[in-house]
Amino acid sequence: MLEILNQLKELSYNLYWSWNNGFYEIFEEINNDYWKWTNQNPIKFLNAINNDYLFEVIERRNLKDRIHTIYRDFRKYLNSKTYFENTYGKPTGPRIVYLSAEYGVAKCLKFYSGGLGTLSGDHMKSSSDLGIPLVGIGLAYLYGYFRQYINKEDRQAELYERNEFNSLPMQQLLDEDYRPVKIIVDMLGVNVYAQIWQVNVGRNKLYLLDSFVDENDLEFKTITDILYGGGTEKRLQQEILLGIGGMKLLEVLQLDIKAYHMNEGHSAFLVFERIKNFMSRHNISFRTAQEMCYYSNIFTTHTPVPAGIDIFHRSLMERYFKNYAEQELKVGFDQFFDEGDLTKSALVNDHFNMAYLAINNSNFVNGVSKLHGEIARKMWSLSPTRSQIQHITNGIHTKTYISPHSENLYIKNFGKEWYDVQDIWDKISELPDEDLWIMRNKNRKRLINFVRDRLVAKAKMFHVTEERIAELSEILDVNTLTIGFARRFATYKRGTLIFKDINRLKKIMSVPGRNIQFVFSGKAHPKDEEGKNLISEIIYYSNQDDFKGKIVFVENYDMSVAKYLVTGSDVWLNNPRKPLEASGTSGMKVVANGGLNLSISDGWWVEGYSEDVGWTIETPPNYESMKPEEIDWAEANSMYDLLEKEIIPLFYDRNGSNIPENWIMKMKASIRILAPFFNTQRMVKEYNDMFYMKVK
Ligand SMILES: *Cc1c(COP(=O)(O)O)cnc(C)c1O
Repeated sequence: MLEILNQLKELSYNLYWSWNNGFYEIFEEINNDYWKWTNQNPIKFLNAINNDYLFEVIERRNLKDRIHTIYRDFRKYLNSKTYFENTYGKPTGPRIVYLSAEYGVAKCLKFYSGGLGTLSGDHMKSSSDLGIPLVGIGLAYLYGYFRQYINKEDRQAELYERNEFNSLPMQQLLDEDYRPVKIIVDMLGVNVYAQIWQVNVGRNKLYLLDSFVDENDLEFKTITDILYGGGTEKRLQQEILLGIGGMKLLEVLQLDIKAYHMNEGHSAFLVFERIKNFMSRHNISFRTAQEMCYYSNIFTTHTPVPAGIDIFHRSLMERYFKNYAEQELKVGFDQFFDEGDLTKSALVNDHFNMAYLAINNSNFVNGVSKLHGEIARKMWSLSPTRSQIQHITNGIHTKTYISPHSENLYIKNFGKEWYDVQDIWDKISELPDEDLWIMRNKNRKRLINFVRDRLVAKAKMFHVTEERIAELSEILDVNTLTIGFARRFATYKRGTLIFKDINRLKKIMSVPGRNIQFVFSGKAHPKDEEGKNLISEIIYYSNQDDFKGKIVFVENYDMSVAKYLVTGSDVWLNNPRKPLEASGTSGMKVVANGGLNLSISDGWWVEGYSEDVGWTIETPPNYESMKPEEIDWAEANSMYDLLEKEIIPLFYDRNGSNIPENWIMKMKASIRILAPFFNTQRMVKEYNDMFYMKVK
């Protein structure tokens, strides 16, 4: 039994488990209440549970063999030959560093807010799968991102729950005398310290910097308290810690890094720290060092929205960087400041732009979809003498977002290694329609049960009537066409577009036997009152008689809610204002689970869409010269038309065995065509082959 416990512990400290459905099931079966209460945190779970009880349950439920098998698969995973090794030979150590302000690896590691974070997490996971010798660097936030709850006024409110780092699946980096390793970064003439937490993500390591240490006074302790929290100065401090502190950490780790990948501009100060290191190591000038570093910097931009890019006022920059520029980089502050300006006219421009800094100093720059690449090229029109902006389309880590039901179907038909054999997607067409339909129904049911449990649990806390609880425990219908919409409530994503013509929607939703229902989820940034209004609006509609029981809003969107939603929805709705969605990834997560996309032609869907695989909401051809309100109407109407004329009829058109054959044909096409491309194995391979391995 102790062996089992040790295996569980070893597994728990490697986030390999985060993409292993069997691992989650073990914990759910041991004690699902504990599992939920710990936020799906196996370390906290194992610390909290009584060992005798644990052993007794493992015995009684026959979990021993299953744990052994997961453990054996894990060891095999770590020791197997990889894409990288087969292509480039066995790496001697990490050669790529990836930096991001947020990482979404698992629900319990609350160091992410949205798509940028889940992408970073998926990048780490696929790098491990492919054997890419990469380390990640980020920040360990004491409170992370907020927990959303809907208050009595039906409005989003935020709760900040403190992480206990010692009971998360990460370990503090210690030196050979078992003392915490700390790096030091200068801010305003003060030594700011940070300790380091290591997260094992399969074969690779993710290092998270944490400024909450004794040596720092309160202002600096709280640099890493909240993700995207506080004002501009805090953001600057966080970015100094990430970029400059990140480079200091590499020195401590003595890694021979060849390629430096900045995922968004938050880490771009690393540019200066690298130049500084080259200057002192080779005794060369700023310009020479800059030229040398340029060829190994990689920058991925994620937004065409200028407001989405960090800028810092000149006076703030001067306070933090004047000495650094003059003493470390041996240049005047003006020259330093020029680097944050694409036109190098800093003296008239009073803001330092992190994306410009990164672009000016990276040989490899990319947008995150084909369309976004084009837009970024226009947005930043770079001098023709330098390398141009390219694109690498985002993906998702399929195994992280596959439901147990879908995975079981794939295992049954394609074997346990289904995921490593990319050509399985071609064989999807051969599966019996009935099996895919059963999978779809199970996925939908799993989502609906989850929603019911959530709503009932909350209602009980608020002492609502028995009657209402009974109602909530039967909310939604397990056989009804279910449409999912979940993402951050940034206004450009237009979370309430479906309600544009409320009477038309009511009409669509009132045809007997041809119903549709909606599950919404998502957080607005705490300071985004407009985004919060949209959430309240959805909740308002969900309480109206015409929609009651057919529209629900699920609180606190996170990786686990996302998984239920993307696996359970029949149709995934995506209606951002074109062309503001650089890529979008949630729509990719539904594919292998048999969900279909209904989307604006923006981001990844420009590449993904074809008639066989889903539906595109029509954007008026002259939209660029139209008023937003007009575009909204046109696109809403196109959406209603598609629902009425195509989507609903296709779903309810059944054969003698009550199976919607044509719907399943579309599911099969969607899986066969989209799944092999819109994943992070393909994406990370492209980063590796196009960028990482091109660095000499
Ligand atoms: C996938 C995911 C996102 C990103 O979704 P988009 O469609 O790109 O907006 C955001 N949050 C969570 C929790 C996710 O899992």
